[in-house]
Amino acid sequence: MKFGGTSVGSAQRIKNLVPLINNGERKIVVLSAMSGTTNLLVDISASLYTKDFMKLKLQISNLDLQYKKVIAELFSKKDSIENASELLTEHLNFIKSFTLDLFTVNEEKAILAQGELISTALLHLYLTEQNISSVLLPALDFMRIDETEEPEVPFIKKMISKTLEQFSAENLFITQGYICRNLFGEIDNLKRGGSDYTATLIGAAVKATEIQIWTDIDGLHNNDPRIIEKTFAVTELSFDEAAELAYFGAKILHPTCVLPAKKENIPVRLLNTMQPTATGTIISNKPAPDRITAIAAKDNLSAIKIKSARMLLAYGFLRAVFEVFERYKTPIDMISTSEVAVSLTIDSDKHLEEIISELQQFGLVEVDKNQTIICIVGTFGADKQGYASRIFDSLKNIPIRMISYGGSENNISLLVNSDLKKAALVSLNKGLF
Ligand code: ADP
Ligand code: ASP
Ligand code: MG
Repeated sequence: MKFGGTSVGSAQRIKNLVPLINNGERKIVVLSAMSGTTNLLVDISASLYTKDFMKLKLQISNLDLQYKKVIAELFSKKDSIENASELLTEHLNFIKSFTLDLFTVNEEKAILAQGELISTALLHLYLTEQNISSVLLPALDFMRIDETEEPEVPFIKKMISKTLEQFSAENLFITQGYICRNLFGEIDNLKRGGSDYTATLIGAAVKATEIQIWTDIDGLHNNDPRIIEKTFAVTELSFDEAAELAYFGAKILHPTCVLPAKKENIPVRLLNTMQPTATGTIISNKPAPDRITAIAAKDNLSAIKIKSARMLLAYGFLRAVFEVFERYKTPIDMISTSEVAVSLTIDSDKHLEEIISELQQFGLVEVDKNQTIICIVGTFGADKQGYASRIFDSLKNIPIRMISYGGSENNISLLVNSDLKKAALVSLNKGLF
């Protein structure tokens, strides 16, 4: 069971978890940092980079006040209050210690890990106060990524199995989402929103009967509820549909978190902590019925067009183009080709300048920044008809930069200027649902 930031966002919310997690079944509970904490830790790191110690002092005292309030509301016994206060002081002192040394991305990652370390320690202390036995498992002991920043699945499996055997009489395990160690043993993380990924990696590692992601909404909705009014929960999704939606912007799921569950065929249930009896969404290997399922959008993309007469009737051209992206470890999200040009999108501008300059050897290169992929997920197999016309009819007033159909049976993607994202989502919602 994974609980996100809002689900552990206050003392009361932490208390509300107890009936959900303490029901006699053996389970591993993964927690995020309390909502707002990771963002605050990002801001604290920014102050440490710029050595703005005045600002830093304010930010740390903010964090201190916030958690003192949680401690005061959560615990009733003197011992627990003392233990929790001591814990908080230790974490704050750890953060303060970085004013003394050089501050690099490694120190930043150590700071970003504090939110999950605090939230799990608080829940563990609270359960102890309530006389509920639980084991706090340090994720830094078993979550590890390799040189390509991919999780080391065999290591994770081995380490967790060992720990579970060690505590064979225990039923309730608590651990941190998001955080891990890298190849060098340094503290690292699974990227923002990564607690979902922790949960599915652990669920797959222990071959759980089910993975539950508890959040602040009653399942995955048919469109982005932050933008569209009156969206509704999709009760059933196939792994493939969920994976596309997560990767293409449905924030409820970390982009790659569906893959470990799919690999081990473990159903993933999305549930709402504020409304625990709501049906939510079940993601499984059951094939999706014939339908348009949901729409998601992914921002901050750059579209690159390479136009070249050399492409005409030539082979090896695309390989040469793709090799440029491979050299700069930059994934391509979407691609469309004609006989004389190829357009593709990337979501990282880290090496954009170098990529452009290498691509120029092939022909004319044009770049459009500020692009958004609109991803429509459904059952679009080659035998299906009518979906494309419904989609394009809905978008008749929206200029479209790229279209991708047929890459996967579950996904039709369009690229629009980000300024048109909302209009595109609204139009599609009206036309498709
Ligand atoms: P948590 O902190 O629990 O991980 P997140 O904020 O990461 O929660 O994800 C839940 C949020 O995702 C919802 O509150 C909602 O605003 C947003 N969201 C975006 N797209 C969708 C969607 N298609 N379905 C449900 N929620 C979505
Ligand atoms: N706390 C981390 C974040 O805010 C991880 C997570 O919530 O999933 O990104
Ligand atoms: Mg999340």
